[in-house]
Amino acid sequence: MSVEVLSGKSLAFEIRESILKSSKYLKSKGIITTLAVVVATDDDSTDYYVRHIVSAGEKTDVKVDVVRLKSDASDEEISNEIKRLAVDSSVHGIILQTPLPPGSDANALRGLIPPDKDVDGANPLSAGRVVSGIEAFSPTTAVAVMEILNRYDVPVAGTHTVIIGRSMIVGKPLAQLLLSKDATVTICHSKTRNLSAITSQADILIVAIGKPKMITAEFVKKGSIVIDVGTNASEDGSLVGDVDSLSVQYKAGALSPVPGGVGPVTTALLLQQTILSAQTS
Ligand code: NDP
Repeated sequence: MSVEVLSGKSLAFEIRESILKSSKYLKSKGIITTLAVVVATDDDSTDYYVRHIVSAGEKTDVKVDVVRLKSDASDEEISNEIKRLAVDSSVHGIILQTPLPPGSDANALRGLIPPDKDVDGANPLSAGRVVSGIEAFSPTTAVAVMEILNRYDVPVAGTHTVIIGRSMIVGKPLAQLLLSKDATVTICHSKTRNLSAITSQADILIVAIGKPKMITAEFVKKGSIVIDVGTNASEDGSLVGDVDSLSVQYKAGALSPVPGGVGPVTTALLLQQTILSAQTS
């Protein structure tokens, strides 16, 4: 690949090293940094992600407590668990994995996570705070993209940055973080007309769609920075991004790939935000 590769692996390693130092220090003060992961699904990709969090926890001396509920758990059962964790002073971070059982009121359940333990910025109150410029945790995937741009000294201020995807966990929070760094942000989605005409003007293109290899060279401006957030399981079980790296490699200036880009940084940041919560508890 002639394109510069913006890898997340070494960045994730450095973040984990720093977490390990902090968790050891907290331990010496009698605090076991603890992240609770509430899971009410049998979904394979969720299971894969949770296993990564547990493994990262083992490497960093952060206790990851996986609370497993049935995939048909009621909102009452899920909310009882979140309320229990919310008042448990030994728990510093709480995340609620998706997908939730069909018919669940996701916003109501996320709203039960206290903002100080909301280490993945899922509570609608956390999102409101971020928009208002009040300190709060942002979703870790959005923060991971910012960390990668920062790590590779990609100038953000004044750029035209285009995000494809407007979810509450990636596109929308990312737009806020980029705006706060003075980017000019355009958000595209499934109803956007002439998508490639917009994306091919982007100095920085961030792709979070969930469609394997959809973004080819025609969507990309020559010399631009492309960040692939997508994680899609391919038929052979491997992970594929939303960007067709073979197609864009001779047009983009730099590419954060899948696997080995945003994903490992996201997991490390989840634990880092849990450390921050433990430090201030
Ligand atoms: P969502 O399904 O919530 O959102 C997808 C977004 O893409 C929507 O805004 C949708 O538009 C838009 N979209 C879908 N199809 C098209 C299209 N053909 N053209 C333009 N826009 C389109 O997904 P998430 O935000 O949760 O995740 C996006 C991807 O990022 C997934 O692959 C997911 O696995 C990955 N991901 C990776 C993480 C990591 O840590 N690496 C963490 C979280 C997600 P509309 O709103 O109109 O429906």
